[in-house]
Amino acid sequence: MDEGRLDSNRYTIQGFGSKLIHGGRDLIVPEEPLVYPIYLTSAFITPSLARVYLYSREENPTITFVENKIAEIDGYKNAAAFSSGMAAEATLFMAFLERNSKLVIQKDIYSRTVTLAREILPKIGVEIYETKTPNIIDVVEKVKPDMVFVETISNPLVRVIDIAELSKITRSHGAMLVVDNTLATPYNLEPSKYNIDLVVYSASKYLGGHNDIIGGFVTGEFDLVERIKDLRASLGNIMDPVTAFLIDRGLKTLHIRMEKHNRNAEAVAKILRTNSKIEKIYYPCLEEDDNYPIARKILKGCSGMVTIKIKGDLDDALKFMKEIKMIKPAGTFGGAESLASHPSTMSHRHLDRDERLELGITDNLIRLSIGLEDAEDIVNDIEQALENI
Ligand code: PLP
Repeated sequence: MDEGRLDSNRYTIQGFGSKLIHGGRDLIVPEEPLVYPIYLTSAFITPSLARVYLYSREENPTITFVENKIAEIDGYKNAAAFSSGMAAEATLFMAFLERNSKLVIQKDIYSRTVTLAREILPKIGVEIYETKTPNIIDVVEKVKPDMVFVETISNPLVRVIDIAELSKITRSHGAMLVVDNTLATPYNLEPSKYNIDLVVYSASKYLGGHNDIIGGFVTGEFDLVERIKDLRASLGNIMDPVTAFLIDRGLKTLHIRMEKHNRNAEAVAKILRTNSKIEKIYYPCLEEDDNYPIARKILKGCSGMVTIKIKGDLDDALKFMKEIKMIKPAGTFGGAESLASHPSTMSHRHLDRDERLELGITDNLIRLSIGLEDAEDIVNDIEQALENI
């Protein structure tokens, strides 16, 4: 008998083609692997109907593994993994909103979330109420919506919602509160401390943490997430197992990375606040920032996004994007590499200019994703780029 093969007097495969397909099947692995493996299989052998896994569009063990981990981190009992953050949002909206439902949505957030709501929800008869950050509680009081959707820290102007206050109001009105906790992460804001029904993540950012995957999650109350998983099985927008594996790998260092992102971003913001080429700096952990009191109340740290308005116009902003050296111009955030993005021409290009200006997304706005390099190198690069515009 070959080393590592089951001794079997049983049926043996003879054919070359059969061996190509079924060979190696009986390899003995007596110990559990230390790291949860990637189940790259479309289906599962199901001798009986009493099965857990059937087909990977519905469930897959590698995906369940990372779902259980993120649910536990958030303090919930259930999570659903998706092919992207947008897939998570779209499925959540479709699972709970129907004709005549009312949705209050924060307007000054990641623009695709708002345009997604605008594009798909009116088609099924949902009424949408868009509102800027400071007015949310008033609008919720007035509209009495079925669902409220906000970002805990907003992209790109890093506004912080008083989630403690908002969740009291939504609870008292029986509205479902959904938060996008992508920027804060569970490290800086643990959602289950508040009356939040569902939490959305773009795992493409800090959860994955290495700028190498696209994925998303919804965590929350068990039954609500089950409903989302049912719809996901029909829509076919589940995460793939390799991505799940990489996210699990990323999650193992989330606390260490977030601590460094928090510290680096705060250090960079504190140095840049006196730079004469900068008109305004947005970082909620700076005492002079409007969001500071709320940030102190609900966040452990302010994560790695620092947004600046440089003195100048569109051309100066674009010049800055060309002059940065170690920091790369790219349209994402939350990974090890420091990045700069220009919301007017990148993340928020879907909005027309008037709307961008109304939201505070001016042409001279630059969003910095402060990575895990040494703070001094990050500052030096920003300063030299500012000098050269
Ligand atoms: N939520 C926020 C705050 C985002 O910034 C993004 C993407 O940039 C998304 C959701 C969408 O996530 P994804 O790109 O994974 O689809």
